Amino acid sequence: MFEVRATDLAGRLGRLEVGGRSMQTPAYLPVVHPIRQQVPVSILKEMGFEAIMTNSYITMKHFPQGVDIHKQVGFDGIIMTDSGGYQVLEYGDVDASPVQVAEFQIKIGTDIAVILDRPTGYPSSRTHANETVQDTLSASRKCIEQIAHKPPLWAGPIQGGTYSDLVRFSARRMSEMDFDVFAIGSPVELMNGYRFREVVRLVTEAKSALPVEKPVHLFGAGHPFMIPLAVALGCDLFDSASYILFAKQGKYMTPSAIRDIHELEELPCPCPVCSSTSTTDLRQMTQVELTAKLAVHNLHIMKSELASTREALREGRLWGYMVQRMKSHPYLAAALKFEKNTLKLFDSGLRWGKDKATFFFDETDLMNPEVRRHIRKVDINLSARHGTLSVLLAGREFDVVFVHSARIISKAEERNEDVVFFHPFLSIVPVTAVSLHPLAQNVCIEEPSREVLLSSANRLADFIKKNGYKKVMIRPGKGRRRQGAELKALLEKAGVRPSLSRSGW
Ligand SMILES: [Zn+2]
Repeated sequence: MFEVRATDLAGRLGRLEVGGRSMQTPAYLPVVHPIRQQVPVSILKEMGFEAIMTNSYITMKHFPQGVDIHKQVGFDGIIMTDSGGYQVLEYGDVDASPVQVAEFQIKIGTDIAVILDRPTGYPSSRTHANETVQDTLSASRKCIEQIAHKPPLWAGPIQGGTYSDLVRFSARRMSEMDFDVFAIGSPVELMNGYRFREVVRLVTEAKSALPVEKPVHLFGAGHPFMIPLAVALGCDLFDSASYILFAKQGKYMTPSAIRDIHELEELPCPCPVCSSTSTTDLRQMTQVELTAKLAVHNLHIMKSELASTREALREGRLWGYMVQRMKSHPYLAAALKFEKNTLKLFDSGLRWGKDKATFFFDETDLMNPEVRRHIRKVDINLSARHGTLSVLLAGREFDVVFVHSARIISKAEERNEDVVFFHPFLSIVPVTAVSLHPLAQNVCIEEPSREVLLSSANRLADFIKKNGYKKVMIRPGKGRRRQGAELKALLEKAGVRPSLSRSGW
């Protein structure tokens, strides 16, 4: 059972219950080897991981007769088992059928079983990508039809890679089958190559075609700085072996980068590993000891990134948190130029009421779903009542203006004028709406960039032209005359002739 408790953008804060076990989502499932664990599973339990991922195909090779997977791994939380898809990707094929692998997963008592899929991989030709979609669909159909007893939860993989139409097709067809979880495949190589725009496109296409009530897993998401983005796109579960794979290469995760341990003078992390050791100690360790230390540290980073992301989601500030993390690498920041359908996906879980102020920094925040929703509402609901429009500037203290809104409204009626506020990011703010979030609760950078001002001024100019105002008066108020003159110049460029009042309101 999947219960959603809060949403923000397309992200969901939820609980997933399976076979008497339960986990908080979004969650990161560390990948552990079913036989040889390099980090003891007891450490994962102590760290509070409620779920892990292991491989059923490798388990099958060692225990063809079956084994109790919880006992074998030594973990009593939720176990999700991958099916061997990764081995297909690496070696081209595996010597077991999808039905055999599925039946084996049920036999070993896995909580979330994944259909043996054929990952698209990257790079991939369109023909190959199409074959992987068809093969995965056919494997799924066979398993659904031929297996009498389902596992507690069935996960259906989505393929198609960088071919948007194939991803959409795969997601649609898979969602026609009785799956409890959907798992988006093939992002690992894209993420390792920092091709984040493609990852965004892949997840957007899949999510847009999947039923909203089902949890979605993203395979192989092991870079901490992309977790907020993946959560914002609506992914609920993540698995990765990156903590150990990076550790073996001497890589030390930070929330915003993957660093080489040999390049670090200090350990910038307060986890138990880093607070009880130094870079000098680490460098003197054997490879095995170093790997073990780095792996545990990396797990702490993944765990803490998930917790920070959940907290941002809970408080309704996922947009700001995601943008901040995405600016940690230029390639990730490049993915901030979101396409239309991604923005539409973000709108799907956008919340109405929030306790926390929205922060506005730069032009990226013009894409904030709250800004776009406000603009849509103004477009639909606001029209001229009088022939004159007064434009008030509120500046940084936007939250105090609503205290005066009643007085402003009655004065406007006396003067037979319409009156709005100009906000650098939100553009037109009706005085009657200033108490609504984020109008009253926002903190805006003191000197917004010209690009931001131009965009908002053009919006105001369109509104003035559309409503045929005969007279437009900018009333900047005390100490904001320069901003008033700047807005006047921008409106003039857009073909509107406002006057600048010396007196405020
Ligand atoms: Zn640490």
